[in-house]
Amino acid sequence: MDKLKILQVEVELVQGDITQQDDIDVIVNAANAQLETGGGVAGAIHRAAGHGLAEECRPMAPIKPGEAVISSGHQLPNPFVIHCLGPVYGVDQPSDALLADCYRNALLLADEHKLASIAFPSISTGAFGYPIKPAAGIALDTIKAIVPSLKNIQKIRIVLFDQTDFETFDKKLGQLNI
Ligand code: ADP
Repeated sequence: MDKLKILQVEVELVQGDITQQDDIDVIVNAANAQLETGGGVAGAIHRAAGHGLAEECRPMAPIKPGEAVISSGHQLPNPFVIHCLGPVYGVDQPSDALLADCYRNALLLADEHKLASIAFPSISTGAFGYPIKPAAGIALDTIKAIVPSLKNIQKIRIVLFDQTDFETFDKKLGQLNI
């Protein structure tokens, strides 16, 4: 299952690149505490956005695990970026609650800004080492729990870079009791 409606919100999974979601209002960055460029998602987003993104973010850094801050999208196709710091698995504790905070805080921040669509990468499952299966469960359970509080968001997309990560999320989405 790659799509599901939870109340008024469409939740969908796609395999692809988070920097190429041109029909989406805000993309989420799996950021580092300093909100700088780096590897993985943060590197791809900063490269595509240009230097202005790091400049705008500098005064907001550092952020804490679970926290989310918003910036404009600069040269990205999206007007906004929400930067979340995921937990380093097993180091930032409790890792499960901090990962849930990322999804919850990003969704609430986008909703406060009256945005209608948001795209997430799989936070913490790259350099930060979070195993994909529990991370997928936390992402989808947190989305399901927060949807009733959202007033403006109509579409939540999760963009998985790898086919196997897509399949893991797909299975978890199928198991979500709606
Ligand atoms: P973290 O430091 O939070 O673990 P990473 O950026 O290292 O973040 O990785 C998070 C996930 O994003 C990984 O599963 C990785 O495969 C995936 N990823 C890497 N580049 C991209 C991209 N351009 N678009 C979407 N997902 C990506």
